[in-house]
Amino acid sequence: MLIVQKYGGTSVGSLERIQAVAGRVAAAVKAGNKVAVVVSAMSGETDKLIKLAQNICQRPDEREMDLLLSSGERVSAALTALALQERGINAMSFTGRQTGIITDTAHTRAKIEKISGERVKEALRKGKVAVIAGFQGVTGDMEDVTTLGRGGSDLTAVALAAALKAGLCEIYTDVEGVYTADPNIVPEAKKLDKVSYDEMLELASLGAKVLQTRSVEFAKKYNVPLVVLSSFTNAPGTYIVKEDPSMEKVLVSGVTYDKNQAKLTVLGAPDKPGIAARLFSDIANAGLVVDMIVQNVSSDNRETDISFTVPRTDSAKAREITEKIAKDLGARGVSANEGISKVSVVGVGMRTHSGVASKMFQVLAEHGINIMMISTSEIKVSCVIDAKYTELAVRALHQAFGLNGKSPVKKSTKKKPSPKK
Ligand code: ADP
Ligand code: ASP
Ligand code: MG
Repeated sequence: MLIVQKYGGTSVGSLERIQAVAGRVAAAVKAGNKVAVVVSAMSGETDKLIKLAQNICQRPDEREMDLLLSSGERVSAALTALALQERGINAMSFTGRQTGIITDTAHTRAKIEKISGERVKEALRKGKVAVIAGFQGVTGDMEDVTTLGRGGSDLTAVALAAALKAGLCEIYTDVEGVYTADPNIVPEAKKLDKVSYDEMLELASLGAKVLQTRSVEFAKKYNVPLVVLSSFTNAPGTYIVKEDPSMEKVLVSGVTYDKNQAKLTVLGAPDKPGIAARLFSDIANAGLVVDMIVQNVSSDNRETDISFTVPRTDSAKAREITEKIAKDLGARGVSANEGISKVSVVGVGMRTHSGVASKMFQVLAEHGINIMMISTSEIKVSCVIDAKYTELAVRALHQAFGLNGKSPVKKSTKKKPSPKK
């Protein structure tokens, strides 16, 4: 079988770890598989490179950042190929460009447009292990290096698996799979044997960084068979699968948190048609992704406060744009809060059962945690809270929804048909 194996930062975090990875790859080869390996930068390396740049300038140019950050993955790809060769395995490493990973020109968050994979295919045909530097690509004119957003090596692996029509894409990381909550925060969290693409998409987009959100989108779209497992143990991992009817019984499958959030508020904007349209089209045109939006109209109906959240890493840029618009609109001002986080409860069972949102609010209230914003979808409820209560909230919700130590809760009171929480 052709397998794509991806090893994250901790899994290639030292020379010993790289040698352990080479051992794992060698075992897969000896078992008769063809193997393409995607590696991340050694743990901490990407953050270190970002800090270096920020010591030179506050908002470094994104094209230069891409060239800089892509180097981390090249180091681990070459070292992994060397470690394999040292074991007598014929291996060859490739950059994103050499792999033919063509992206758009959105530096630091580029989208993959095409993967030719010619050289990788040729290496595999010749019985070699191909080691690919994750997280990077090249623009269509082959002129500039791009990167795929934080955690982007997951996307490299999934997209490559689709391009090579691999039988399986294995994502090796530092935990044994996808859990009901981050196991590093909730020790009682349980590993899920399988999770649907949709649920994984919600979990990832709401903060479960074990898989990059875009990699899950891609896997769903192209039906890439995906498993998350540990590079430190031999435990079976979590399979990401198409939804099946038995999954509907699980009311809540996980609790997530996302601290990479900032809240901006336009204070006292005139309450008239076109205000939100103007604000959010300018923000979208700047390439910023807005998550939650709350608008309050004052009692005299003349003024409105509009609050919204953006990734914290984009908050300075968003604030700059918002302040300009606020001035143009004659609003009273803009306030920003970077000390927030978003906690969410996720589960496909919410489509057919009620009571999740109210229970969530109650649990937060019992712990004295104030809710600043709320948003819901068919299969999740999210609340923005003060960041300092994040761990407390996640643990309390995990327990309240019966996820500690036993199977995910199955709700007894069935309600039909509206998909309300
Ligand atoms: P890698 O470097 O291998 O890509 P990441 O650090 O990106 O690894 O992702 C793995 C981490 O994701 C884990 O160490 C864990 O702290 C975190 N995580 C957050 N939520 C979850 C979850 N629901 N299940 C498993 N891991 C989670
Ligand atoms: N090294 C990159 C990051 O830290 C990509 C990855 O690890 O997937 O975000
Ligand atoms: Mg990752």
